[in-house]
Amino acid sequence: MASRSIIGAAERTALEAACGEHVTFDAPLAEHTWYRVGGPADALVGAGSTAVLAEVLRICARVDMPWFALGSGTNLLVGDGGMRGVVFHLRGEYGAVHWSDEPGEPFVRAEAGASASLPAFCGQAARLGCMGIASLAGIPGSVGGTLRMNGGTDREFGEFVEEVLVQTPQHPEPHAVSVQYFYRHTNLARDAVVAKVRLRFERGDPQAVRGELKARLQRRNATQPIRYPSAGSVFRNPQGDKAGRLIEAAGCKGWRCGGAEVSALHANFIVNAGDAKAADIATLMARVRRRVHERFGVDLVLEQHLVGVFDE
Ligand SMILES: Cc1cc2nc3c(=O)[nH]c(=O)nc-3n(C[C@H](O)[C@H](O)[C@H](O)COP(=O)(O)OP(=O)(O)OC[C@H]3O[C@@H](n4cnc5c(N)ncnc54)[C@H](O)[C@@H]3O)c2cc1C
Repeated sequence: MASRSIIGAAERTALEAACGEHVTFDAPLAEHTWYRVGGPADALVGAGSTAVLAEVLRICARVDMPWFALGSGTNLLVGDGGMRGVVFHLRGEYGAVHWSDEPGEPFVRAEAGASASLPAFCGQAARLGCMGIASLAGIPGSVGGTLRMNGGTDREFGEFVEEVLVQTPQHPEPHAVSVQYFYRHTNLARDAVVAKVRLRFERGDPQAVRGELKARLQRRNATQPIRYPSAGSVFRNPQGDKAGRLIEAAGCKGWRCGGAEVSALHANFIVNAGDAKAADIATLMARVRRRVHERFGVDLVLEQHLVGVFDE
């Protein structure tokens, strides 16, 4: 599929001046998403410092360029036509995590950059005895993406957050904002890039916390189709029910469209079983949603974010 970049020569020069070798034009996004699908970003910026991100946000605001913050790509379906404008991939100083673990204090605190890996963060938190961290075990995202999604299971990321620092085109330097947390989403402004998150955990027994984390990881590995590319649960659970139960009861398990398949192991997962296109996955999502509505009158709501161009 031909790229239709909206980045002209002047913007290209400005981005190169701000990012040097850390900007790639017409950059394939499939390798940055867990579904392993998706067309190219007009520009993929590897922003390694708050200064670089601030500068590129200023450029985007000045020329009215659309932009998107990419985390670990574990909850995203990027269209086969790719994404217009600038896609930010945070790294460098955004990957740092600092722990404050004073013996005798009832709480353990952390300051985590947005691109820090959540699984690595959980592992370290468990070693320090952070109570509740096992609820986030096995969620494969970044700290920033998990904050935006309010990821979790029986407990959610937002429960542990004390402060969130963001950067926006209007206020490009990191600044604190207040965020409200809901089931798998937040009210974080769409034009806010999470830069850093401060978290607080009740101190518990490290051995017990590690044991629970390990048990939860084992349970997850046995019940989720982790051998295939996916982006986790496709739909949010409706009030008082499970999306997976409804999808299975509607007879959708094993349905296929091109290389996409409704997992036989966990019906609320769609997997890339081979050479799926984003369009196959999106079509399968729509078919499942329609069938569940026909059978049970329930409108399933997407948990995953569909972004970019699907209809070229
Ligand atoms: C096998 C598997 C199991 C999963 N299990 C769970 C689970 O148990 N519970 C759960 O809640 N989720 C689960 N997920 C989904 C996913 O891991 C979480 O939603 C994760 O927190 C998303 O983080 P990410 O960095 O990958 O975000 P991405 O997928 O990259 O992005 C998701 C959204 O966050 C935004 N975003 C990313 N980074 C930033 C930033 N720095 N600032 C502002 N916005 C940002 C993006 O723009 C996008 O809108 C699972 C996924 C997989 C593949």
